[in-house]
Amino acid sequence: MPPPPIPPRLGAPPPPIPPRPSSPSAESSDDRQRPYHPVYLPFTLTSWLIPNFELRVEDVSHPGAQLFFEHVRPAEALKDAVISTCSWLYTLRDVPTNVQNVLLVLRPMPGVAYTTGSRTHKEIHFSVNHIQKSAARAREEILGVLTHEMVHCFQYNARGTCPGGLIEGIADWVRLNSGLAPPHWKRGKGDKWDAGYDATAFFLAWIEEQRGKGTIYQLNAAMNDRTYHENIFQDLTGLDVYELWRLYKLDCPSDTS
Ligand SMILES: [Zn+2]
Repeated sequence: MPPPPIPPRLGAPPPPIPPRPSSPSAESSDDRQRPYHPVYLPFTLTSWLIPNFELRVEDVSHPGAQLFFEHVRPAEALKDAVISTCSWLYTLRDVPTNVQNVLLVLRPMPGVAYTTGSRTHKEIHFSVNHIQKSAARAREEILGVLTHEMVHCFQYNARGTCPGGLIEGIADWVRLNSGLAPPHWKRGKGDKWDAGYDATAFFLAWIEEQRGKGTIYQLNAAMNDRTYHENIFQDLTGLDVYELWRLYKLDCPSDTS
């Protein structure tokens, strides 16, 4: 029988929160023109509510499972994924507190990973076959996938009405900002704004670059407890999402087109 869930615990007292720009006009024109560089966050400067973590390994002798334990410490990796997620999508004042427990399941399966579970108890299922295939850069890939899946544990989804491509794009936007983009990710790829994953992640990064830091934080916040509508982009940026996508593709043509 699994142990009873342990309530979330608080770490050290939170540091002061730097102010966010209240509107795009708060960004200087210099900021808007600066090229986009993903940044590592100073993890030690933040103090978020960390859920309890559980781990289940369904095939301990699988080469992918062995790679996992050779390259990451599970408690640290999961905690860092929570910190990255919360640092990019929330402030200490508005971070959701519903996630009490995250169970990581390492098991043989097709695909990469997925997240399921309830409001309070999340499960991240991670394919050991995928880890085995990523052996050449196992640590970065494991941390990147855990970060992506942890976003799904915490992000708002407009009461389930957010387009899947935007959900996946936000998850990969956090992964990108955490410095965990795989080498094959390239800016400018994708045929439509909600193609999802890295295509949408780079688009969101471009919007943030154009409209100021905190824009994607506000996009996520706008999907808390209300249904999705495309004018969310118009409200945040002054332009509709198709015009934004057109400008993005002009600004960042993909290598192959
Ligand atoms: Zn996903």
